[in-house]
Amino acid sequence: MLEDKKPQLTPISELGEFGLIKHLTENFSIKNSSTERSIGDDAAIINPEGKKVVITSDVLAEGVHFNLGYVPLKHLGYKAVVVNLSDIAAMNAVPTQILVSMAVSNRFPVEALDEIYDGIYRACEKYNVDLVGGDTTSSTSGLVITITAIGLENSENLVTRNGAKTNDLLVVTGDLGGAYMGLQILEREHSVYLANPNMQPEMEGYDYILERQLKPEARTDIKKTLEELDIKPTSMIDVSDGLASEILHLSDQSKVGFRLYEEKIPLDTLTITTADEFNLNPAMCALSGGEDYELLFTISPNDYEKLRNHPDFTVIGHAVDLEQGNFMVLRGSNELAQITAQGWDAFLKK
Ligand code: ADP
Ligand code: MG
Repeated sequence: MLEDKKPQLTPISELGEFGLIKHLTENFSIKNSSTERSIGDDAAIINPEGKKVVITSDVLAEGVHFNLGYVPLKHLGYKAVVVNLSDIAAMNAVPTQILVSMAVSNRFPVEALDEIYDGIYRACEKYNVDLVGGDTTSSTSGLVITITAIGLENSENLVTRNGAKTNDLLVVTGDLGGAYMGLQILEREHSVYLANPNMQPEMEGYDYILERQLKPEARTDIKKTLEELDIKPTSMIDVSDGLASEILHLSDQSKVGFRLYEEKIPLDTLTITTADEFNLNPAMCALSGGEDYELLFTISPNDYEKLRNHPDFTVIGHAVDLEQGNFMVLRGSNELAQITAQGWDAFLKK
């Protein structure tokens, strides 16, 4: 991809490490009063302003988490920020600062890093977070980006994974499985391209799921929506690894089991038709696909009326006693299938 670009490219060595950091970060402005000191010192200074600090980190490694054959660099920068902000949102906290650390091989020109930072910049603008530091080093192979995100929130508003109680309702935002189907399209078209570079990729009509994969958004908006509805979740997690795996995390931490209703899992029409095209069960894509970055949470049954008709939320199940385990009620029957980290087990329980 990079080889296709003919305009002259700048080797990183031309700027040097400090010149590069300055070049990449000089456009970023500070938006939060909690950011006391930012890039340029030995460390940033954050003033939590009486709130609790939540902090999280994610590594994205080339060849493991992304393939530069089909992931545009700008989207990569954006997504690297978003996946961290999603973790902050899952604590019901407000993201305020990020740090960006990169190991980059000299096969990347400055212009490639500019694109990544353009994506990082857009995410900072959209989500109102400050870039306050990071680290830059060379790598002998490929690109690794590690982002650390910081969020602040009053202690009483924080939501963890361990507060779900028996009979609580299980709720999810948005729709699921789209990011996984988007990845299937990208991989299919990429292998067609590798086999014959003259073939035009067929991406038309798949916009929604491609965007779910390449340019996901973090549900930082849900915090306010829940406040307006006067609902505080009893437990919460973001859907990064797939619904099944997240349900098991809530179960494990909260010491309850869950009943999930297959027919309630929210799926976009395009996710369903594309899954059909690939001979996949769309519910399976939601359960084991991942990267949807929606929020999964539990609420007291007393709060049901408050969100029942809200377009952002779908009630997909409820908590049961831990001994009753984690099972999905299959569509059109009362049969139960055990939820496993990979999706669900073909073995049914009565
Ligand atoms: P040190 O030698 O103390 O680690 P650096 O020279 O690595 O400092 O970094 C100088 C400043 O630039 C620091 O504020 C650091 O947080 C910031 N910084 C370094 N790399 C990046 C990057 N890739 N993105 C944003 N800020 C960075
Ligand atoms: Mg450093």
